[in-house]
Amino acid sequence: MIKVFAYNNNICYQGQKLKNNSDTINLALEEIKKVQFAQNDINYVYKIGAKPPFKNGQEVYDFIKNSKIKIKFAPMPSHDTHAQWDIDENTIKINEIYKNNKNKAVVLAISEAIIHEAGHAKDNDGESSIQEELNCLSLNAMAHRDYDRKYPNIYDSGQENIVKNGVTLYSEIYFEQNPYRLIKKIQKSYSHLPPGDVIHPACNLAYAIKYNHF
Ligand SMILES: [Zn+2]
Repeated sequence: MIKVFAYNNNICYQGQKLKNNSDTINLALEEIKKVQFAQNDINYVYKIGAKPPFKNGQEVYDFIKNSKIKIKFAPMPSHDTHAQWDIDENTIKINEIYKNNKNKAVVLAISEAIIHEAGHAKDNDGESSIQEELNCLSLNAMAHRDYDRKYPNIYDSGQENIVKNGVTLYSEIYFEQNPYRLIKKIQKSYSHLPPGDVIHPACNLAYAIKYNHF
C-alpha cells in the first residue's frame, strides 16, 4: 500500500540505503534535524483539529533512522506527486525530477515532503484518511513556517512545482483564518479517503471535508 503526498499511485523502484542518499536528500535530512515548530503554530493546528505526529524535526529524523526508512528519488505518475510513502519497501520516495537539485528552496521543500511522509510511516498501517492527511500536512506546514523564519525570502526564487504549488501553497492555506482554500485543496486530493480511521479519529473539520458540510 502507498501513501501519497499529492494524490497518486504506486511506482516501484530499486531501493538504496540511507547512507547512500544523494547529497540533496542528505542536505534535506540535515535541515530536518533542526526544525522547531513554533508553539503558536502547534496551538493553531490543534485548534483546527489536527494532531501532529511529531514534536520537532529531531524526532522525525530519529524515527527515520531508527525505523531504517530509506529515502530515494523515484519516478512519479505526475509533476504534482511530490513524494510517496511506500510501506512495502519501507521507503520514502521523492519525485525524481528534483534529483540532484541542490537549490536551497528545493532542498527545504524536499525536507518538508520527507517530514510529511514520515508522519504517514509512523502508524505503520499502510492506510490513510482525511484526518491522517490533516495531521501530516500540519507537519510540513509548520516546518515550512520554521524555514521561513530561519531563511527569510528563501522560497521567493523557487519556481519548481514542489516549492510553489506544493509546500508553499499548503503552508499558506493551512494557516489562513478562513479554511475554505484548505478544505477545497484537501477535497481535491483526498476526498476518496475515509474521514478518519482507528488510529486517527476524524475531527469536525475532517468530517466537513469528507461530506462537504459547511
Ligand atoms: Zn499525505
